[in-house]
Amino acid sequence: MLKGKTALVTGSTSGIGLAVATALAREGAGVMLNGFGDPAAIEELRAGLEAATGSRVRHHAADVAVAAEVAALVRATEESFGAVDILVNNAGIQFLSAVDEFPEERWKAIQDVVLNAGFHAIKAALPGMKRRGWGRIINVSSAHGLVASPFKSAYVAAKHGVVGLTRSVALEVAEAGITCNAICPGYVRTPLVEGQIDGLAQLHGLSREKTVRDVILSTQPTRRFVEVEEIAALAVYLCGEMARSITGAALSIDGGWTAR
Ligand code: NAD
Repeated sequence: MLKGKTALVTGSTSGIGLAVATALAREGAGVMLNGFGDPAAIEELRAGLEAATGSRVRHHAADVAVAAEVAALVRATEESFGAVDILVNNAGIQFLSAVDEFPEERWKAIQDVVLNAGFHAIKAALPGMKRRGWGRIINVSSAHGLVASPFKSAYVAAKHGVVGLTRSVALEVAEAGITCNAICPGYVRTPLVEGQIDGLAQLHGLSREKTVRDVILSTQPTRRFVEVEEIAALAVYLCGEMARSITGAALSIDGGWTAR
């Protein structure tokens, strides 16, 4: 379905980004991976993905918290593959704290990675998409882009910002053959969530098991984690021609969390 297209997926050495990159490569897209990790493990991942899908896969280690590195990532993808047809702004980090104790450098880091990186990547990739008259921008927001939870002020603020950015961009490019949507997942058991369980347990004074059951999964009426493959399948759908009228949407995939 995506043969001849190129996808750049930020934060794709792990979790949701890796699942999205894998699914897009399976559909025939060339893929630029991005994200941190042990270089040997990343190379193994890259080569394995290429071998499993038959699509060309490269990796770029840009730190998307740095505007110049985001621009360089987009440029490198265009130079290596000829285009960025599909841009998935997915890289994300989290930090839990009461707002009046929130460390300022953590606040800034979350805004830079979660919100500002998407702006810089869209700004760099859009001219090429406009020239070609086709593009798909997918911003991985969160249920926290639509509703809030305590102790996550920086993340909730940034993810709400991502939904706003998505809507503005969608309106600006609506006639250019380019769609821009946000995916808003509920809890997905990735390293990002694993890393929060201990912190939430401490903040709520609960055991790990009780935290998963009573704090995390209590928000999701389905009472189960969303799987990364479910999010990847939605991303693939958004890249198809039948999704050309879906734009400016904040698509929940959250087990009913935001239906409450
Ligand atoms: P993850 O920790 O498994 O993966 C995060 C990826 O981002 C990794 O590849 C990491 O190397 C990369 N990354 C982090 N900082 C980076 C930086 N400065 N520059 C480049 N790459 C960087 O997390 P995940 O759960 O797969 O999260 C992916 C996205 O999904 C995030 O935006 C997250 O906020 C969002 N999300 C996750 C959940 C969930 O429950 N896991 C729910 C809703 C939204």
